[in-house]
Amino acid sequence: MKTVIMGAGAMGSLYGGMLASSGQEVWLVDIWKEHVDAVRSKGLTIEEKGEDKNVAVHATTDAASAGKADLVILFVKTYHTEKAVSDALVLDRENTVFLTLQNGLGNDEVICRQVNPPKVLLGVTNQGATLLGPGRIRHGGWGKTYLGELDGRRTDRVAEIARLFQGAGFETEVSSNIKHLVWEKLLINVGINALAAVTRIKNGQLLDHPEALMLMEGLVSEAVEVARRKGIPIEGNPFEKVKAVAEATRMNRCSMGQDLDNKRRTEIDVMNGAVAREAERLGMSVPYNRMITNLVKVIEKTY
Ligand code: NAD
Repeated sequence: MKTVIMGAGAMGSLYGGMLASSGQEVWLVDIWKEHVDAVRSKGLTIEEKGEDKNVAVHATTDAASAGKADLVILFVKTYHTEKAVSDALVLDRENTVFLTLQNGLGNDEVICRQVNPPKVLLGVTNQGATLLGPGRIRHGGWGKTYLGELDGRRTDRVAEIARLFQGAGFETEVSSNIKHLVWEKLLINVGINALAAVTRIKNGQLLDHPEALMLMEGLVSEAVEVARRKGIPIEGNPFEKVKAVAEATRMNRCSMGQDLDNKRRTEIDVMNGAVAREAERLGMSVPYNRMITNLVKVIEKTY
């Protein structure tokens, strides 16, 4: 299966590099020329548990030069999805499938604005990676990848992609409820990321301050109510789950925090911003999520 990855940063390079090293034909497409040049001339280096692995993989700044694809994986930051999808249309042929493994809510909808919806698959990844420099990433987190059809059917094509990922070393499961899994991951991000980002603390420190816990509970319970009103069944106690993740990642500065620290744009619009948007559509008020979204946006504007 010929795979083209749109956005070869930390995660795109991880999935692309691992798929290539399992013998698949993979093309990395990125607008960052220095990175593409480094991968072309020296290969992609994946640092894993202190060891380097070098992988030969096609890389280009021009999607058209990759030819047509069987599978296109979107791995740009979510605010670049629309442009990346339009750049990727040259890869499309009759049976091409477009898969998003990005974080947040609504990525499938953005893709479906330009791609025929039956061609679009949704996924969730619990892998983690960091971009270290041109041609070099660190694989630092391991967890399951989930894939599914938007309508929940268990098709041959989604099973084939799951096998492809398994063969590359990613523990992968096909889900008939992929939208629910997107919400489950969203609830974790909604409770931790923006709150830790604006308070300038690490994930675990959120648990050490009653004021932060109160805000976390407000953010999560609003999002759970929106999910329920949308017919997404949320199992267990989501607030306890968010606290458990904050504890398990106690020493991490979350990615949104790193974005604010480095004066980069954040993915707030697909996280707390998406909860606020969905709530508005439902005629609900979600003051915690609206406030944190606007705080992050104000900080972004002051860079
Ligand atoms: P990243 O910033 O490392 O990589 C994104 C890449 O996309 C960059 O190299 C950028 O140059 C490129 N890009 C931008 N516009 C492009 C375009 N039009 N065509 C091609 N390339 C383009 O981001 P990342 O950390 O790999 O995250 C990607 C997505 O995966 C995000 O939605 C993120 O939330 C999600 N995610 C990240 C992790 C992680 O550990 N890094 C884990 C799970 C999910």
